[in-house]
Amino acid sequence: MHPADLVLATGNPGKRAEFESLLGGLQLRLRSLDASVPECDEPFGTFVENALAKARHASRHTAAPALADDSGLCVRALDGAPGVRSARYAAAADGQAALPRAEQDARNNELLLQRLHGAGDRRAHFVCVLVALRHADDPEPLVAHGWLHGTVAGHPAGEGGFGYDPLFVLPQQGLTLAQLDPAQKNRISHRARAAGQMAQLLQAFWGITPTAQHQSI
Ligand code: IMP
Repeated sequence: MHPADLVLATGNPGKRAEFESLLGGLQLRLRSLDASVPECDEPFGTFVENALAKARHASRHTAAPALADDSGLCVRALDGAPGVRSARYAAAADGQAALPRAEQDARNNELLLQRLHGAGDRRAHFVCVLVALRHADDPEPLVAHGWLHGTVAGHPAGEGGFGYDPLFVLPQQGLTLAQLDPAQKNRISHRARAAGQMAQLLQAFWGITPTAQHQSI
């Protein structure tokens, strides 16, 4: 069987490489959106709505099946914040324009520590929602979720990863995600877990087959 083609609703080559590896057990070819496709708004209050909006947008602009993700960090003591605003948490708080990614990440982490100052409950989780559509008006989107549970540290630790990784502690390891080996993070991440679930759905509902090496997926 020929590999199925799916447009990944991102122009970010890093993200495409990550999903290519996570879905590498399937006869699937992922391509990223080209620069001519306008950015999609993500105005919704839930991850699933934002992922669906991105998948529809990508599918509409390419006339091809599409896969989109939305992810973020949800902190219990903050009623789920930063949540869908994770990428621009600090910018949303002080009304600033977008900053370079590393600077934005550092400010987000600072704000998170401020908001959690003195909090007894520091439990949090990352969530990733993946949505796949056969076409822009597909009435049956495939929806997969992945979660990673942990706690928010009192101060950043570790040099790896991105976003909230330096503050996100895995209780079993006693390390932040930024202190983990990247391959280890990629095995347990919310994205990996959502991708595993999506791989099952793509096989069951779209008939996408595993590669010869992954017949047991
Ligand atoms: P996006 O949905 O991939 O754009 O992610 C939204 C935001 O959630 C990112 O900008 C990060 O702030 C945060 N985030 C998502 N996944 C991770 C992760 O694996 N580590 C750290 N932060 C993450």
